[in-house]
Amino acid sequence: MDISLEKVEYRYSAGTPFEKLALKDLNLLLPSKKYTAVIGHTGSGKSTLLQHLNALLKPTAGKVVIGEYEITPKKKNKQLKPIRKRVGIVFQFPEHQLFEETVLKDICYGPLNFGVSQEEAKRRAKELIQIVGMNEDVLERSPFDLSGGQKRRVAIAGVLAMEPDVLVLDEPTAGLDPRGRTEIMDMFHRIHEEKGLTTVLVTHSMEDAAQYADEIVIMQKGRLVGKGSPQDIFSKPEWLFSLGLDVPEVVKFQYSMEQKLGMKFSKTCLTIEELAAEMEAISENGERS
Ligand code: ADP
Repeated sequence: MDISLEKVEYRYSAGTPFEKLALKDLNLLLPSKKYTAVIGHTGSGKSTLLQHLNALLKPTAGKVVIGEYEITPKKKNKQLKPIRKRVGIVFQFPEHQLFEETVLKDICYGPLNFGVSQEEAKRRAKELIQIVGMNEDVLERSPFDLSGGQKRRVAIAGVLAMEPDVLVLDEPTAGLDPRGRTEIMDMFHRIHEEKGLTTVLVTHSMEDAAQYADEIVIMQKGRLVGKGSPQDIFSKPEWLFSLGLDVPEVVKFQYSMEQKLGMKFSKTCLTIEELAAEMEAISENGERS
């Protein structure tokens, strides 16, 4: 399911002395089945943008088109409920929203609320607990007896139980250790591919943006200032530094080598393997000449 934003503007507390313009003239297409990473400084508008993707916020000007639904400033809230089912958001620290007595009830809560049968909700819970890398036994336990990482997986299973077409991830690895981060990010990527989802990841991690995204979107002061493949975006490290953003470690290393050697590599390498191959080619050329 495509999502497009057309000339979207968003003002918090519009018409009051506290009015704050958070998104300006935003045009953006998030294509179906693609994985898009949104990067930008704190306060650049990422979270405001994300809340437009399932109509938690309505634009104060312009429109958001989510599949067959069109959201304009005048749209009635009642008409927005079906969108919440199609677009799942995993907020930061989603485990804070767990509240049921058992993991099973927590995962089934959303689907039951949207009219799915008990039987079908249970079937989904059993399937999803495994997809998020846990054992079925856990379904009868209290979510509050689980570790932090396990709670997060249960909360993610709860979002996936709605069977969304679009999955929006707001810093989903915040607070996890490096191993937990990699496991969760790999899991989302696997689910993205297997279920043919449209995925939107808001992240501060340039490594994750480089590794998983098909396309990167850069926000600054409520505006979209850049968009392209990881290769395109990270081939301009000086521009990113000027925006106060970073680049992946491997790109930083390549950039400093290029400065030292006074030469450009044939391409921007996004993995250590690519960089090793590029350096080998350079040293072989050097030996030949
Ligand atoms: P990011 O997610 O990139 O950190 P946000 O979307 O949270 O950025 O914020 C964009 C701008 O909107 C910032 O200037 C922020 O201070 C402002 N803002 C965010 N939430 C609110 C709110 N509830 N009321 C007023 N201003 C807000």
